[in-house]
Parts: sequence; structure tokens; C-alpha cells
Amino acid sequence: MPRPKNLRHLAELPIVKGFRPIWLRPNLREAVKLSLEEYEVIRLIDYEGQIHEQAAISMQVSRPTITRIYEEARRKLSTALVEGRSLLIEGGQVKFADSHYYCEDCHSKSSIDDPGDTPHCPYCGSTRIISLNDCFQRGCHKCRRCHTPRKRNKDT
Ligand SMILES: [Zn+2]
Ligand SMILES: [Zn+2]
Repeated sequence: MPRPKNLRHLAELPIVKGFRPIWLRPNLREAVKLSLEEYEVIRLIDYEGQIHEQAAISMQVSRPTITRIYEEARRKLSTALVEGRSLLIEGGQVKFADSHYYCEDCHSKSSIDDPGDTPHCPYCGSTRIISLNDCFQRGCHKCRRCHTPRKRNKDT
């Protein structure tokens, strides 16, 4: 059995759940799945221009681990780009700094310190809010952001 992985620290959530190719019918079943730590490494190294050592400190992992995650992330991004596949940002061994929510009524995003049993939107008070932490980590399969069909034949 592989030993449990350390959780990588994630500063913020991505602003989108994924990308769809122009010209091709979106086929999420064929999507390349980029994990949250792979997204974070791309953000730190390619977007912010950090060197691998800095990224390793930000995510609290070793430098060889960062390099390994980075190479895998680049391989996936290039696959999506060259093969025209959708990209889905989901999953990964990460720990979030806050609880992030998306409101289905007013479409605002918020982070709530202590959400309690029935979290509600701090802007409009709606309880129709989706945990983005869950959404990105596991794919909540409730919201419009991750309506990936998990099974083709079975319906609930
Ligand atoms: Zn709201
Ligand atoms: Zn979702």
C-alpha cells in the first residue's frame, strides 16, 4: 500500500473548473484531468515566474516533488492543447486555506470562515450555495461547473 501523501497547500481556488476546445464538440469524457496541485504548480512557476525552490516552499513539498508534479502538469497541458481535448481541473492531495462557496442565486463567490450546518451566501442569504472545495476536490456533480457524466448507462 502506498504511504499516504502529504497535503499540498493551496492558496486560492482556480477561477474556472476547466476549458473546452473551440471547433470540437465538448466531450468531457475525454477531458484531460489536471489535479489541483498540478494547477497550482503551473500557476506558481509559469504564471508567477517562481523558481522550483520557491514553489516547493509555497506548497510545502520537496523540490523533487515539485519538479515531478510540474512535468506531469506540462505533459497534460500539452496533451489538451495538441489533441484538442477539454481540460478539467479536479482532484488532488491538497489542503485549502478557506472554505470557498459559489452561490447559485446571485453567482457570487465567497469564502466563509465558519460555515456551520446550513451555510448561506453572505451576499444574498441564499442557501443554494455549492462548496467549491468539494467541487474542485471530488467533483460535486451537482453544479453546472462539473456536470461531468460519471456513468453513461445508469441514472439515479
Ligand atoms: Zn448569493
Ligand atoms: Zn461542482
